[in-house]
Amino acid sequence: MLIPSSDAEEILKIGHALLQEGLVVGTTGNVSVRRQDTGCILITPSGVPYPDLRPEDLVLVDEDGQRLEGKLRPSSEVMLHTAIYRRRQDVNGIIHTHSPFASVFAVNRKEIPPVLVEVAQLIGGSVQVAEYAPPGTPELADFAVSALRDRQAVLLANHGMVGVGSSLKEALVVCQVVEKAAQVYLLAKLTGNPYTFSEEEVKELRRRFLKSYGQITGRES
Ligand SMILES: [Zn+2]
Repeated sequence: MLIPSSDAEEILKIGHALLQEGLVVGTTGNVSVRRQDTGCILITPSGVPYPDLRPEDLVLVDEDGQRLEGKLRPSSEVMLHTAIYRRRQDVNGIIHTHSPFASVFAVNRKEIPPVLVEVAQLIGGSVQVAEYAPPGTPELADFAVSALRDRQAVLLANHGMVGVGSSLKEALVVCQVVEKAAQVYLLAKLTGNPYTFSEEEVKELRRRFLKSYGQITGRES
């Protein structure tokens, strides 16, 4: 048995949290974690609703998405996950959601600007929109990696968002922050003229945050 049970339990817990918080519905979205020691990636399977998910349903794949263990097929977005892990050695947890407020920006193909301190601190700048490609395609994976750059979140045009972190817990917080920021920005636009942090202000907020909480990401963007 190659699959560590602690990782499997964590993925299940995160799945329930995503569902409860309305960040995913049905079988949409997917979750994965990478083990630094083996480089293997544990990912949710394709087409199993979160409440029905059992540890043995999860699928262990290598960095190219080839199945190493598990009976079910990995998530249809396995290429999206593996492409990010290959490009970003600092990332060990990835969550893809279809959360409603982030999706508003995704369908408008408009970035979410850094209007909240936590966006600057945790994401490292605006949440950019990846060029459109159909779900599950290698093009979607390429576009998402390009638009993500060295940040912690990216929007997928007309689709949803992806949050990444040095751990799965951090990736969850990133998804929650993006959803909140999208909501706050929309309401702020309706009621006034929201102030967007300058590039220098974002850099400074991020730098201070990493200095104080360096263990969260251990890197600077
Ligand atoms: Zn999706």
